[in-house]
This record gives sequence, structure tokens and C-alpha cells, in this order.
Amino acid sequence: MIVASACLGGKKCRYDGSAKPNAEVVRAVREGRAVLACPEAMAGLKIPRPPAEIREGDGFDVLCGNAGVYNKEGECVTREFLSGARKFLAYVRKTGADEVWLKSKSPSCGAGKIYDGTFTGTLRGGCGVTCALLLESGIKVVEIHE
Ligand code: SF4
Repeated sequence: MIVASACLGGKKCRYDGSAKPNAEVVRAVREGRAVLACPEAMAGLKIPRPPAEIREGDGFDVLCGNAGVYNKEGECVTREFLSGARKFLAYVRKTGADEVWLKSKSPSCGAGKIYDGTFTGTLRGGCGVTCALLLESGIKVVEIHE
């Protein structure tokens, strides 16, 4: 079983209320090989919501308290992002999934590149908070570029 970022499967859970359907993910869900989950929705964040980015670090830095997640209005949403990551991890364990497919560039799901916290569209290397927690927990993560 695969758990995939919900927006990749067509769920309109992104910050702006849109989805980012990916043909491979949609097919895997249709064939019963994948289920969907969104850490930010699991954290109770509203749809739509202001975009958020990790400041001065990546998901691993957030996990150890050396960086935070802030939305474009300047509000700290670190607690919510950590809560969503923990709930997502619990869901992955419950399903027994052996692989997680995550959407690129998200401050939660990003798995290689994320935005740099300046809201200027600038990317930096690193993982989102959920991705970092999954990797720390020994779960196989695959980055889906969208
Ligand atoms: S948190 Fe992940 S699943 Fe949810 S909208 Fe962002 S990229 Fe998609």
C-alpha cells in the first residue's frame, strides 16, 4: 500500500483551495494501491489558508526546534505543522504502507526542495516537516514533482 499527498490524488486541499492531480497517483488510487492524506488538513488548517514556508531551515530543523513555519501574514504555524506531521505518520503506520508519495516543494510534503521562507518563489534544498518526520521514522519517501 502507498499513502500519497491528497492534493496529488485530486483533493482540493492546497492553501488556495486547489488540487494538483498527478496521473500516476490518481491511477494508483483508482486501482486500490494508494490512499490519500493531507497533513495540513489533518492539523485542522482551513482551506483556503495563507501560504506558509519554513524560515531559515527545513523540516529537520523544525523537528529539532531550530526553525519555524510561518504563513505569509507572519503568523507562526509551527505547532499546526508538527501536529499534522505526527497525525500523517500515525495514519501511514495504521495503513501499514511501505511507501509514501509526497508532493514536491510543500512546507509539509516537500521531499528534496522547498521554498526558502521569503515568499519570493525561491527554492532551497530540504524537506518539509512531514517528510522529515517520515524519514526520521524510517519510512520510504518518494518525491512526486508537481
Ligand atoms: S500538505 Fe501535502 S497533501 Fe496537503 S495540500 Fe500541501 S502538499 Fe498537498
